[in-house]
Amino acid sequence: MLTIFSGMTPQYEYTTTVEHLFTHCLIAYPNNAFSQNNPMKDDYNKDCITKDEFKKILWSLYKNNYCLVSIYDTFETKDNITVKKAVKVPIGKKALILSFDDVNYDHKKMGLGMVDKIIVDSNGKLATSTIVDGNEDVSYSNEFVTILEDFVSQHPDFSPFGDKGTINITGYDGVLGYRTQSKNTQNREEEIENAKKVIKKLKQVGWNFASHSYGHYHMNKLTDEQFFEEIKLWKNEVEPLVGKTKVYVYPYGEWQVFDNFGNISKKHQYLIDAGFEIFCGVGMQTFFDYLPNKFNNKVLFMDRKVVDGNTLRKKDANLYPFFDPEAVYDYKVRPSV
Ligand SMILES: [Zn+2]
Repeated sequence: MLTIFSGMTPQYEYTTTVEHLFTHCLIAYPNNAFSQNNPMKDDYNKDCITKDEFKKILWSLYKNNYCLVSIYDTFETKDNITVKKAVKVPIGKKALILSFDDVNYDHKKMGLGMVDKIIVDSNGKLATSTIVDGNEDVSYSNEFVTILEDFVSQHPDFSPFGDKGTINITGYDGVLGYRTQSKNTQNREEEIENAKKVIKKLKQVGWNFASHSYGHYHMNKLTDEQFFEEIKLWKNEVEPLVGKTKVYVYPYGEWQVFDNFGNISKKHQYLIDAGFEIFCGVGMQTFFDYLPNKFNNKVLFMDRKVVDGNTLRKKDANLYPFFDPEAVYDYKVRPSV
């Protein structure tokens, strides 16, 4: 792990369950995103948070003494079995993982309120690029990557070991705004080279990657064969870009680990064979443990609390230890529901 914060603060073994929050790409241009004629406006209002909401959340997490750790520090492999490992954090701090789903900047959403892509600028700094009214808007403050980078540079003890977050990506429409997929892609080689540059930079400054499947299908609706093909596409098209990852993040939080008899399901076995060791779902309760099963198979599962328009609006009680959803909610820009 990178050591950015100088480590003078004594650390302790954090035996409390590590919390994990996730959200999606941020709403970077709220006026556009929530405008009456935007076909995505209701989806954004449900599934996404705005850049200003994210900034308020970071500030509150910091004030509540959370600090970022890497999901890779929460487990290890012993005798071919993945087991939990206690993370260490500075005294007075609580461990937190942040992750971000669907970071592909789907071409269907272009120009509708999110950024177009993550880039590395001519000075080697992470930024975002978006075409706004025909001109490129290069920004350092309208996506989770750049906002978190900026926050940590001002508050290094929020990331005591240099860890930022986990980027959970699919492959069906490329990664990070680059059309790297094999299907219907022009200039694919160039897109791949550009994506690789951004990925290299992200890794250098403490981000890591997880698989969020290739096609973002409902796992339960796929046959075993279709699921196997999905994994193959990920291994062929996305893994060469982001590198091997042991973390699998279920689309829609839908999982199928055991079959009807309580054995490891075929689909789960494919995931294990593909090198995935820790599995992330979606749940507002804190859960990081082995899934209970009669054969005592150790399957390490971590739930993630949802931070989106819906949970903020509902003032979900599970969010209060982290931030006050009411105070975070951007009443000024969000349409009423
Ligand atoms: Zn997703």
